[in-house]
Amino acid sequence: MILTTHILSGALVGAEIKNPFYVAVISIIVHFLLDLFPHGDYLNKKSRLKDFWKVAIDLVIGFSLVAVIIFIRGGTSSNGLSIGNVAIGIIFSLLPDFTTFLYRYLNMEFLKPVKNFHESLHCYENGVPEREFRLKNNLWDILISLISLIILISLH
Ligand SMILES: [Zn+2]
Repeated sequence: MILTTHILSGALVGAEIKNPFYVAVISIIVHFLLDLFPHGDYLNKKSRLKDFWKVAIDLVIGFSLVAVIIFIRGGTSSNGLSIGNVAIGIIFSLLPDFTTFLYRYLNMEFLKPVKNFHESLHCYENGVPEREFRLKNNLWDILISLISLIILISLH
């Protein structure tokens, strides 16, 4: 899934759960669960480092949305968010994709089992048309991002 979806769902885990250790563990589990939903990705196994401008845009969008949420709700006041927990939720929600990056681009072979497990969760194989990044393949991304956003903004 796109990183914005993982950032928002990780922020939600961080906003709703008090114990930072549970935030970390649950954020990783949520990442793997979300990847079970059919989705396209803008990078695939053939992507080169020059394609990473897409990652930069994705991260900017995700972090900007979180900044807006923190601005709206106010951080670390009685009614606000724990910014620390939100940060932990985001970091650990992104971690599985970061390990794929380390494996593919920095050749960290020891991460191969993690990468294989992660890849095996996807319902379509890397490179097939169903994994292309397009609106009809990414409706779950949109829905999950919207739900996370709405809960983050409205639930206090
Ligand atoms: Zn993933």
